[in-house]
Amino acid sequence: MIQSLEIPDPFATFVAHKYANFKGMKYDFFSGEWDMACGACKEPLNAPTKKILTKIRLYHTRNECLGGY
Ligand SMILES: [Zn+2]
Repeated sequence: MIQSLEIPDPFATFVAHKYANFKGMKYDFFSGEWDMACGACKEPLNAPTKKILTKIRLYHTRNECLGGY
C-alpha cells in the first residue's frame, strides 16, 4: 500500500475483496435478501442466500434470457 497515493479504508477494501466474486450482488438489509440484476437482461433477481441467488442466476441465464447458452 506504500505505492498508492490514497490510503484505502481497510474495511472498504476488505468488503470489496470479500465480495469481488459476487458481481453485482448486494445484500438488502431491509428485506434480508440478496439482490442483483441479470447481467444480460437486467431483470432483478433475489434470494435469501448468495448460494441460492447463484443458482437462480444460472437457471435464469440458461433457461430464460440466454436460451440454453
Ligand atoms: Zn436475464
